[in-house]
Amino acid sequence: PDYIPGDDYVGLPPPHYTAGNSTQARANATILMLARNGDVDGAVRSVRELEDKFNHKFGYPWVFLNEEPFSDEFKRRVSNVISSSVQFGLVPKDHWYQPDWIDEEKAAANRTRMEQDNIIYGGSVSYRNMCRFNSGFFYRHPLLQQYKWYWRVEPDVHFHCEVDQDPFVYMEENDKLYGFTITMYEYHATIPTLWDTVKKFIADNPQYVAKDNAMAYQSDNGGDSYNLCHFWSNFEIASMDFWRGEAYSKYFEALDNTGGFYYERWGDAPVHSIAVALFARKDQIHFFDNIGYEHNPYTHCPKGKGLWEKGKCSCNPERSFGASLIPTFPHNFSSKQTLN
Ligand code: GDP
Ligand code: MN
Repeated sequence: PDYIPGDDYVGLPPPHYTAGNSTQARANATILMLARNGDVDGAVRSVRELEDKFNHKFGYPWVFLNEEPFSDEFKRRVSNVISSSVQFGLVPKDHWYQPDWIDEEKAAANRTRMEQDNIIYGGSVSYRNMCRFNSGFFYRHPLLQQYKWYWRVEPDVHFHCEVDQDPFVYMEENDKLYGFTITMYEYHATIPTLWDTVKKFIADNPQYVAKDNAMAYQSDNGGDSYNLCHFWSNFEIASMDFWRGEAYSKYFEALDNTGGFYYERWGDAPVHSIAVALFARKDQIHFFDNIGYEHNPYTHCPKGKGLWEKGKCSCNPERSFGASLIPTFPHNFSSKQTLN
């Protein structure tokens, strides 16, 4: 087998459902980072910041994943800045690499064309592997099976404010499924046939579409076309049980079967966002206004009343980007616009 549980393990076992420094019990959650060995400097910086702003107070376990074994340097330097426990896992080959049934000639021709058209990562196979893994596989990794919730973190991101309230417990107590900080438009050239694939899936499986969904967030015409809006998935606080559920599993399979992750360059952000907007109720989607977050080149700086002060945020509240793009998310959906 590609992966032996426990094979690649450093640190203490993850202590879940035990009290942290606060009196609040922890949620069944992990902080997750996918990274390459070469990302080590940025990975350490992200971990250091999130530990300072949040995790030294809460003690959630970290999981790192990579399709290559993590180097001793990576494990040592990352472990050095973690206050709780950490596990390093290897991604199984069949969760990562381009499947054999993909027509490589067709895929390569499309990559060349997209590169010539200057589409970001248009010529990259590894980026496509990453997007497909983040869309349909990470939550199946053996190290993540014990967890329900995850906070996705990338190398070289920034957290600008104190996080004093446990976001996982917030999600759990308020019946949320997906949390974001920044929303964005996708490049149409990366997903030319994605929406048609989604529409076909919905037509074949109408039972999965939630009542009171957030379709109006991503379609301005009741589902006819996609307006390219998505949650920027380099930050996610969400339920893996949502991805593991029947609706998303069937949806991912239908999408993957078209080969669109390789023939086009479907990102995990629109793939996740469309599913969340369709299969969850809109009140199960949460905007984490209180979490100051930066991933180059955009920053979300808390705008809600008193949040910037309360979080002692270092970011400039005048320069926040993101949910401001959709000023009233998620309150501006009229029931007429909701597709169900
Ligand atoms: P961008 O944010 O869309 O520009 O993409 P990134 O380069 O930041 O990649 C997204 C995430 O996937 C980051 O956490 C990267 O460290 C990780 N990542 C990207 N490509 C690879 C890869 O080939 N292997 C591994 N292990 N991680 C990758
Ligand atoms: Mn990134």
